Amino acid sequence: MLSELKPEELREFAFAAADLLATTDAYGRILTAYGDGALLHHPTADRLVGKEILPLISQSDIRRLRDDLWALGPGRRVCWDDPGAIEGGRRIVVQRNTADPNTFSWQVARTPRSGKVRSERASEMLSERFRGAIASGRLKAARQPIVDTTSLKVSHYEVLARFEGEDSPAGLICAAEETGQIAHLDYIMVHAACARLSAIPDAAFRLAVNISGESVQRLEIVRELCAVIAGHEFQRDRLILEVTESARIQDAAAAARGISMLRRQGVQVALDDFGAGAASFAYLRDFEVDGLKFDGSFLRASPDNPRSMALIRGVARMCADLNIASVGECVETAADHRLLADAGVRYAQGYLFGRPIIDEQFFVKGRTAQAMAAA
Ligand code: C2E
Ligand code: CA
Ligand code: CA
Repeated sequence: MLSELKPEELREFAFAAADLLATTDAYGRILTAYGDGALLHHPTADRLVGKEILPLISQSDIRRLRDDLWALGPGRRVCWDDPGAIEGGRRIVVQRNTADPNTFSWQVARTPRSGKVRSERASEMLSERFRGAIASGRLKAARQPIVDTTSLKVSHYEVLARFEGEDSPAGLICAAEETGQIAHLDYIMVHAACARLSAIPDAAFRLAVNISGESVQRLEIVRELCAVIAGHEFQRDRLILEVTESARIQDAAAAARGISMLRRQGVQVALDDFGAGAASFAYLRDFEVDGLKFDGSFLRASPDNPRSMALIRGVARMCADLNIASVGECVETAADHRLLADAGVRYAQGYLFGRPIIDEQFFVKGRTAQAMAAA
């Protein structure tokens, strides 16, 4: 299978070297891969690229591995730290499998940056759960409708990550952002959304997917997202990328470039959580976006706060002038809806129009990293 792929088609993701859990034969050829290992996934061939794991490991490690490997008894493992290899160093664990002693399980994981170990422990435990949930297929997706405030027709659906056993993905997502792993989720969600859009070629079926501000400022991630989009056939404006957690944007110029690159693919980009962070107005000025979503807290504060009302009205007006679609979220009551409609906000989302509902098909059609990990 692999030999069918041209060498230049083999893509290796920047983050593949970290957090990889794979079963290989003694030569390092991947037999199965779990967790982030599944991100060694070829975007156009749509399957796991079984690139040898050994090139991910330094030469001296390889020599050590070969000697140590055959000396292991079945079920036994070796483990060592490789401090200089990648950002923060990494830990390599290899275990000789009991059922088939000619195979080995590997884990290549980031080691915590020593200075921050204690303070990061809680978020590391969370991010461990994040990785586990993705690897074991406990990642699901819910869909929530976004409606036109005047006609009440569904404009599109926002896709929200759901981890089994968690009420909200917020905790795990936050930990993943803090430990630099959110790009994995963003990649998986965008990939699955593209697959879903190409499987359902109905112009009225449009999806909005969240991607973290952390991801849009990283060129290598944006490139991967562009490659995934380019690898699927669908009317591009059916996909909207909502940039959340813009507080995580340290490099606004890089984020602006990332947003332009994504828009050049033809997809739409919206600024999420508008009004939640101090830099919202600067972002609106600097980022060329197609949409803006008022943060839910805006609406909560508005009924009794004339300033807040005036702000919503003013921003909605500005959006209309700039041809930017405005959306209000957390619409729970008819009064919330009226407020947005009166302020000229174009679209609305919230429990009043429909709660997020699990979409069992979301990860089915496209063979996503998660589907492969579960296979
Ligand atoms: P968000 O993008 O602002 O998503 C809207 C949140 O509001 C969702 O929370 C949704 O369930 C909730 N919501 C919707 N309608 C109502 C309502 O009427 N009232 C109230 N009180 N809440 C409502 P959820 O699903 O817990 O997601 C939390 C945040 O996690 C999201 O905020 C987003 O920032 C992030 N997130 C969710 N899925 C993903 C994902 O796939 N990738 C990334 N990068 N972030 C995601
Ligand atoms: Ca969102
Ligand atoms: Ca939001």
